[in-house]
Amino acid sequence: MTVTARPLPPLATLTDAQRRGADCVFCSTPLRNRASVDLGMRRRTEHGQVLTLHPRRCAAACRTGGAGE
Ligand SMILES: [Zn+2]
Repeated sequence: MTVTARPLPPLATLTDAQRRGADCVFCSTPLRNRASVDLGMRRRTEHGQVLTLHPRRCAAACRTGGAGE
């Protein structure tokens, strides 16, 4: 089992765009025009429903310190 460097943020804190991989899952940066790293498909259960996530993150260093609207 591979341990990744960083766990995903709690599902409840992720936006729809973050769940789809449109925005960085860690810092919310839109990834449309940026290099990104695919973190692989994840499954989570929310309100009794199984959700499929496709999280991605910035290929470069993330902005740290939270969601930064
Ligand atoms: Zn990021």
